[in-house]
Amino acid sequence: MGKIRALVTGGAGFLGSHLCRRLVQEGWEVICMDNLLTGSMDNIADLLGNPLFQFIHYDVTQYVYVPGELHYILHFASPASPKDYLEHPIHTLKVGSLGTHKILGLAKEKKATVLLASTSEVYGDPQVHPQPEDYWGHVNPIGPRGVYDEAKRFMEAMAMAYHRTYGIPIRIARIFNTYGPNMRLNDGRALPNFFCQALKGEPLTVYGDGSQTRSFCYVDDLIEGLWRLLHCDYPYPVNLGNPEEVTILQVAKEIIDLTKSKSKIVFKPLPVNDPKVRRPDISKAKELLNWEPKIPRKEGFKKTLEYFKTQLQHTHAV
Ligand code: UDP
Repeated sequence: MGKIRALVTGGAGFLGSHLCRRLVQEGWEVICMDNLLTGSMDNIADLLGNPLFQFIHYDVTQYVYVPGELHYILHFASPASPKDYLEHPIHTLKVGSLGTHKILGLAKEKKATVLLASTSEVYGDPQVHPQPEDYWGHVNPIGPRGVYDEAKRFMEAMAMAYHRTYGIPIRIARIFNTYGPNMRLNDGRALPNFFCQALKGEPLTVYGDGSQTRSFCYVDDLIEGLWRLLHCDYPYPVNLGNPEEVTILQVAKEIIDLTKSKSKIVFKPLPVNDPKVRRPDISKAKELLNWEPKIPRKEGFKKTLEYFKTQLQHTHAV
């Protein structure tokens, strides 16, 4: 057999670009597809000259044609930060629904295995804590976050239907908050906001009273989890994330300390339907993939700080 060939949708995005790099390092041929709505060519600049790598500027909600063999499709296209999906609500719904439909049709044609980037958002504002995969969630379908949450829930339903009807091999990663290099500075998420604000000496904007929790996973850990999931014959959802839970106020304080910033903290209104708690139960990933995150927050934050510093210097913003 020749080389393994994979299509990565959203390949110029935060997670997609790390995934493309990992697959190329493993010797796979990678076709990276992105419409650059929230992704960036900067994220894949180092891969562009590589003979194993090909970029196609395309919107995956349209009919997707890929000539030749395809063994894997990794569907990572979607606006993924609350700010982004509030700015692009219809496209968020379309890429999770129409985009997933195109991907599954292509997988059927090519007999390819599909890995879907699902999300902890399928659990909504959870009433079960931490969240195991068999929790069905608590989502407001018509709230502002519904466009993302429901698109991803539809994506999972569609993939299961294709799996049950046509036997398409699928893998579903429910990805919890992840951070690291290649996050967009202005994607509006807590960590890019806090790092940029601290580095510029501006106040850190904590929403609500900051008592809401999240569990942050460094991107390298997540990519290792995805790589293992790809090779595991299990069609049901698997949580991937770091189970170390922390309040948002604590995160803001840690970033002020780490950057040695003189910034203060200011409190702003909590966005509608903002989940109060979030923490993955990763028992399944441990058992199935022998995986758990290895990089502590302190170390991950240091690496991420270096990235944001460089980015801000490039934009002459400091
Ligand atoms: N948040 C905040 N300040 C910011 C951005 C976000 O306090 O400048 C809060 C947000 O309300 C949420 C948490 O931080 O409770 C994580 O938000 P993020 O946008 O990173 O992603 P989410 O986990 O909500 O999808």
